[in-house]
Amino acid sequence: MREQITRGLPPLDDEYQGPAWWHLSRLAEIPHSAGMRRIALLGLVVHLVAIATGILNVTWDWNGIPVRVGSFEVPVTVYPPFILSLLTAVWLGPTWGLVPAYSANLAGALVSGMTPSTAVLFALAGALEVLIFWGAMVTLNINPDLRGRRDILRFLSVCLIAPTTASVAVLIFNTAHGLDPVAGQRIWRGWIVGDILQALLVVAPLLHFAGPSVRSWIARQFASPPRYEVTYTRAAIIAATTFALIAMLTFVGIFMLQDSLDIDPGLRTRSGELLLPRLREMQFYLFVLVAALTVTTGIFSTVLGRMGERQRSLSRRESLTGCFNRRAFYELFPREVERAHRLSHGVSLVFLDIDHFKRINDRHGHETGDRVLQQLAARLRASVRETDLLFRWGGEEFVVLLPHTEPDAATVLAERVRAAVEARPFLEDEAFRPVRVTVSVGTAGAADYPIDPDELLARADAACYRAKEAGRNRVEAAAA
Ligand code: GH3
Ligand code: MG
Ligand code: MG
Repeated sequence: MREQITRGLPPLDDEYQGPAWWHLSRLAEIPHSAGMRRIALLGLVVHLVAIATGILNVTWDWNGIPVRVGSFEVPVTVYPPFILSLLTAVWLGPTWGLVPAYSANLAGALVSGMTPSTAVLFALAGALEVLIFWGAMVTLNINPDLRGRRDILRFLSVCLIAPTTASVAVLIFNTAHGLDPVAGQRIWRGWIVGDILQALLVVAPLLHFAGPSVRSWIARQFASPPRYEVTYTRAAIIAATTFALIAMLTFVGIFMLQDSLDIDPGLRTRSGELLLPRLREMQFYLFVLVAALTVTTGIFSTVLGRMGERQRSLSRRESLTGCFNRRAFYELFPREVERAHRLSHGVSLVFLDIDHFKRINDRHGHETGDRVLQQLAARLRASVRETDLLFRWGGEEFVVLLPHTEPDAATVLAERVRAAVEARPFLEDEAFRPVRVTVSVGTAGAADYPIDPDELLARADAACYRAKEAGRNRVEAAAA
């Protein structure tokens, strides 16, 4: 207890920082939330602009525009719907990006003269690209504001991976339009290079420079801000869907290609074998390869995601008692305070220190001491509410964070905890000698925002010190 309270521990580096995840069901807030109406309107505008520019891409032919780099000529495709849907997916959540990506591709495909049934399939590939971009950013835990070198390098790798889905789209596009191999190749290069360049030269700077203000604007529109956390189960479902769709599209693309090539069945290879069966065999292996790759990648990314999640949860807990640790305190405090503030509730803190714990160790041994700490944590957990958060602050010091609690109520709870500890000896039912334990408790509350966690802690700690001075086994409240 006399130990100095560590000020401003470094931020958690394993904390999830990735792109937004949202429940579309939040659209139900539209009737009673002006902020949600603004967001929905923004979503609608993005959607319409994506469709319009998707159509312009076809009518003005922005596919494979030749760009000279030195003596090289690189065909680059300009596709604004890709940029728009990517940004919306990262800032608002995947669905918000997938929908405009799909609509824009569908509109463009129909305008280009694709049959509706082919266009419906073709449009999936563009939406998948956005989904893969978003999913890879989640899996790699990339901060949406691309803050440091680590984020930028990881984003670069995503920029190289995600546009490969454009290949599937090209396969369908070229086949549907019966393009000859040279024109088809040109479009292929243009789409892939175009997507990589647009992601790197347009999306990345926008994420970095505009991201912080856009995201804080979005957060301000809501009664409760969007979640920036994607659970393992959701990630697994999204990954499974993505890979199933890619496999399906590749399959469709390969069969369409086979039909459109219109190869003379009598053609033979140089070694004299019939060409067509060999080609079919190659297509089959290609399909198996793509399927195997997608499934493996899916498994890897979900396993990695799960490991990350477990790691994050472990790094917030302390191993002896399973209570949250100090790092978790600084992580959870702002969130809880923000929530309480929104609901116009106070926040209180209870600081608890075991009386003469050194004596318990000296008389009964360190192992007994450890068991007492474990049982105390269990007893504390049982006497606080579900929404209260329990932290092991130091050796035999615990902190309970009580969001939505005024100081008077905190003192009542602290008294209940103190009495529960004194009521029964510890280690009664075990192969240890029962130990009587008492605790000294200090409480402090705050209602004026913003609340400084260190200041609140210092006040509760000082109150606990007064409880010790006054004879221990009692509760003292800090002056308001
Ligand atoms: P006071 O009533 O003034 O708080 O007396 P105290 O003996 O509890 O005071 P102090 O805070 O100085 O001592 C804390 C002791 O807790 C010192 C250390 O040996 C013991 N301790 C700290 N961490 C652990 C632990 O993880 N396990 C065990 N068994 N003991 C611990
Ligand atoms: Mg102590
Ligand atoms: Mg003590």
